[in-house]
Amino acid sequence: MKNLSWQTSQGSRIVRVGVVRSACYAVETGDGRRYLIDTAVPGERAAIEAQLERLGFKALDAILLTHAHGDHAGNAAAWSRRFGCPVYAPAGEVGQVRAGRCVLPAGATPLGAAVMAVQRRLHVCETFEPVPDVRPLPLGEGVFGPHLGVVATPGHTECSASIVVDGEAALVGDALIHRGRSVFPPFADRPEQVGDAWRVLLGTGAETFLCAHGGPVGRALLERSLAALERPGRRPRAGREAPTARRHAPPASAEESRAPLRPVLRHPLRAVAVPASAAPFPFENPLAVEIEPAEGRRAAGFLTL
Ligand SMILES: [Zn+2]
Repeated sequence: MKNLSWQTSQGSRIVRVGVVRSACYAVETGDGRRYLIDTAVPGERAAIEAQLERLGFKALDAILLTHAHGDHAGNAAAWSRRFGCPVYAPAGEVGQVRAGRCVLPAGATPLGAAVMAVQRRLHVCETFEPVPDVRPLPLGEGVFGPHLGVVATPGHTECSASIVVDGEAALVGDALIHRGRSVFPPFADRPEQVGDAWRVLLGTGAETFLCAHGGPVGRALLERSLAALERPGRRPRAGREAPTARRHAPPASAEESRAPLRPVLRHPLRAVAVPASAAPFPFENPLAVEIEPAEGRRAAGFLTL
């Protein structure tokens, strides 16, 4: 996929890079500072470095992580060295980035729970190179110059943050995941807070919301999604499992890892490899997940390994 870029009226430029597994965004603000928001996965390191080179990004003022998940923090340590810049992560998730081990999120939908059960077993994106000197990401405006602001948008994780550029575009990490017509993240530790995070994002006045997974979301779509979420009976319930409890859980033993998956749906799942072009969004090695017996053998969702 070719680069997608946006320009604000204040002269800041945002370029989407690394769009196979998880996108990150190169930002050059109107006063000439350069930032990278999130860092994708190590498998995309070389491709993204080549993109940054083409964009003329030879140095960075800072790397800002929206949250601690492995598909966002995966290259933070390597690029902190390469670009000679500090790494910032939401204060409550600094420990995970420093340790190079994140808390995988809970499923917020039945399919999300099923996919996450597989991901937990295989430890996909759970560990990454530790970032020893990661700093807490300050909320508010001014710390990163007059063009960037940071707002707390918890829900997908307990402490997720979004970066707002000139009050016009917001880099939201996984506060929104844009797949098909849905923008609700299928994985969320605090699904009941997702709507509040969306209200915060709309409150910034931004017109464009740029996700790590899926295409850009316009303000009208986010407003419609929030209204739908707030209809009586639609507001998601609190996550059943306290993330703080899982954070301190010991890593799965080798024996546990070999144990069969516990069923999380009434119907068994099967995963089949499909060509990348069959997935509804850019994904590396997509697997179609089928729930059986479903209507025919229709794919019910996609995941990637
Ligand atoms: Zn995430």
